[in-house]
Parts: sequence; structure tokens; C-alpha cells
Amino acid sequence: MRQTFCVYCGKGTGKQTERTDLINDEKYDGNLQIISKKTTRFDTDVWKTVTNDADRVIIKSRTHLTLWDGESYEPLRYGSFCKLRCCEAFANGAYAAGFRVGG
Ligand SMILES: [Zn+2]
Repeated sequence: MRQTFCVYCGKGTGKQTERTDLINDEKYDGNLQIISKKTTRFDTDVWKTVTNDADRVIIKSRTHLTLWDGESYEPLRYGSFCKLRCCEAFANGAYAAGFRVGG
């Protein structure tokens, strides 16, 4: 979905992202753009997990990635508006301008 803009305040919608976690020094090998990257290193070797092939792995660091395909955006949450406050302001403005439901 392309980026859309609130008809009241003009604010654009945010990027439609997904998240993934990498462990230790694993590299991201997908095609998505890395929007943010945060690595947490652990001082002790107590962090363990069981991977798909049933090996136990010591987790020394974990990297959270936020990924974007370079073109997809979230839809507006309230039809043509980003927030309920924008719906309310637009409705009150329309009423003040003389618009009435049902003509
Ligand atoms: Zn808005």
C-alpha cells in the first residue's frame, strides 16, 4: 500500500515494517531494508535456546531488526483520518460550516 495522508491534519502514514531477531553474530540475508538495529550483548553464557535442529546454543548477543520492503505503508486507522481527534475536529468544522446529516 502506498503512503496515504490524513485529510484533516495531513500527517502521512508510517512504514509497514516487520521485526526479526538475530542471535550472536548471525547476518541478515533477506532483501528487506534494515530500518533500525539494536544489539544487546549478554555478559554471561546462561542464555540458551533450542534451535530448529535441536542444538543448544549459547546466546551471547541478540539483535533486533526492524525491516521494510521500501514501499509499503500502514493504512490510515480511521478511514480518511489518522486519529479520532482528527475525525472529531473535521466533523465539528463541517457542522460549523453548515453541513448537516441528511441534507
Ligand atoms: Zn490526522
